[in-house]
Amino acid sequence: MNVKEPWQITSTEFDLTSEKLNIWIDFTRGSKFPCPKCGKLNCSVYDTKEKVLRHINYFQYSTYLHCRIPRIECEKCGVLQIKVPWAREKSNFTLRMEAHILELSKRMPVLQIGKLLGENDTKLWRVINHYTDNARSKEDLSDVCVVGIDETSCKKGHEYITLVVDIKDSKSNICFVKEKTLRLFTSFNKDLQDHNGKQKQH
Ligand SMILES: [Zn+2]
Repeated sequence: MNVKEPWQITSTEFDLTSEKLNIWIDFTRGSKFPCPKCGKLNCSVYDTKEKVLRHINYFQYSTYLHCRIPRIECEKCGVLQIKVPWAREKSNFTLRMEAHILELSKRMPVLQIGKLLGENDTKLWRVINHYTDNARSKEDLSDVCVVGIDETSCKKGHEYITLVVDIKDSKSNICFVKEKTLRLFTSFNKDLQDHNGKQKQH
C-alpha cells in the first residue's frame, strides 16, 4: 500500500476473536497538503474526518484501515477534502481492494463475492458500476458500420433485454438495454452519437 510522508502507520491490532486486522494511518501534525482543485501547495488543514476502509485480507484476517482524512482550506477554492493515495473519495474500500473486487467479478456473481468477502452486494455493485460506467464513457464507436439486434424476453411478455452487436466485430456488444426493439432505437441512436458514431439513413 502507498503510505508515504506525511502519512505513517501509527498502530496495528490483531483481533483474534473476530479475525480482523485494524491498521491506523495518520499524518504528521502540522502537515500541509496541496489543494485538490487548483493544486496550490501548502494549504493548512481545516478539520479532519475519521474514515474506515476495507483493505485486502491479510491471511484469514479482514483488514480495515482507519484514517483521519483532512479537509484543507484554500484561499481560492474554499474548504475541500484532500485526495489520499490509497482510496477514491467516497469509496468504502482501498484501491487495492477495489481492484480485487473487479478481478473477482470477472469470475463469479456479485452475490457470491459478497458472501466470500462478507460484504453487502450493494457496496460491491457501487464499485463495479463506477469502473464500468467510466470505461463505457470512454468507448469510441466511430468505426461501427453495421449492427445486429438480438432481443430476448427475460420473463415472457414482461421485460425484454436487447443486445446491439457490432457485426464486423461480433464479439463486441455495443449496447445492452432493457427495452423492446422499437423503443431501443432511440436509446441506441443516442448512445451511438454520444460515442462518436454516425447514423446513416437508407
Ligand atoms: Zn484551490
